[in-house]
Amino acid sequence: MKHTKCPSCLSKNIEGFFEIKNAPVFSLVTVKSYEEAVKVPRKDIVLSFCHDCGFVFNSLFDTSIDYFTGGYEDQQGFSKTFMEYLTNLSNKLIDKYNLKGKNLVEIGCGKGDFINLLCQLNEGTGVGIDPAYEEGRQNNPNLSFIKEFYKHEHGKIETGFICCRHTLEHIHPTYEFIKLIRDSLESNTRPVIFFEIPQVLRILKIQAFWDIYYEHCSYFSPGSLARLFRKAGFEILDLYLEYDNQYVLIEARPSLIPSKKTFPAEEPVGEIKNLVYEFKEKITRQLDSWREKLTTLKQQDKKTVVWGGGSKSVGFLTNFDSIGAIDYVVDINPHMENNFIPGIGKKYVQPGFLAGYKPDAVIIMNGIYKNEITKSLNDMGLYPEVYAL
Ligand SMILES: [Zn+2]
Repeated sequence: MKHTKCPSCLSKNIEGFFEIKNAPVFSLVTVKSYEEAVKVPRKDIVLSFCHDCGFVFNSLFDTSIDYFTGGYEDQQGFSKTFMEYLTNLSNKLIDKYNLKGKNLVEIGCGKGDFINLLCQLNEGTGVGIDPAYEEGRQNNPNLSFIKEFYKHEHGKIETGFICCRHTLEHIHPTYEFIKLIRDSLESNTRPVIFFEIPQVLRILKIQAFWDIYYEHCSYFSPGSLARLFRKAGFEILDLYLEYDNQYVLIEARPSLIPSKKTFPAEEPVGEIKNLVYEFKEKITRQLDSWREKLTTLKQQDKKTVVWGGGSKSVGFLTNFDSIGAIDYVVDINPHMENNFIPGIGKKYVQPGFLAGYKPDAVIIMNGIYKNEITKSLNDMGLYPEVYAL
């Protein structure tokens, strides 16, 4: 085991429980050819569990890989379901913390879509911090961008709200990162800190192996996330699940004395430990049943596509690559068209491609989009077998 300590609570009481061999180390980079795609390095994943704080992480994670400064496509804003979720969430946060007209900060803003949405809704200003921000991607004059990793001096930016969405799961030294944010605020206890990340209880409960991939090195539950924030010097204001229980959201505020206040959504370590053992027992059956299904589709010469690019498709296909049942992956993000899936080498196509291809089966990578996708298929006169994860 490469990492022998829990990155969240620093305990050495950790245990490996699930291994994935040869996972492509990139899933969101844009790759323009098959040759380039299959050259993406592959490394093993070992999911480990911390007996002291309940944190789950890849204990083989290679921290020398640069994930943050290169180009990648991770925009989800092309889906109506997703945009509705994000708009409702933004409006709720603006009302709850009285953010109208204020200056807001986003750490790990990517292309700046979320900070842009927030600032349109709060009619204020925003600062996005991300080394990978691409100049000119946003043209809102109320926004400014800092192309850097978050550092101590950024804590001086005048703001009452600092958010960070879908970033912490990519960071291995989780305690170091949350502590850096806390320390940067020094004695300023005013800003509300908001984080949103995928949550691991669901992955464990339904053995969602497609949600386990190399780029995600850190897997939080409501409990392990709250314990990390408290340890780093925050008081939890709210903790809850959203988006069909796929995401955990935390709202916190810096505290000057260690906070002891716990939240109802925090599951105890014993509960996540039981789920880890249950996962270990059931995952083989889950993988076998998909392997059988895909092998049958292949034997029957059925044209099968995966709908939903990004990391889930990489997580899914990594396990069944050798069966050769899938030729194309559909993604509605137009920036992905004609790119190839890193490591796997399958081509991304736009939904319209299917009208001519006429697939016999479609495997949807995120069940929350099932209605939206089934409707798109039917609108093209297509009625394939639909499987949703
Ligand atoms: Zn721990």
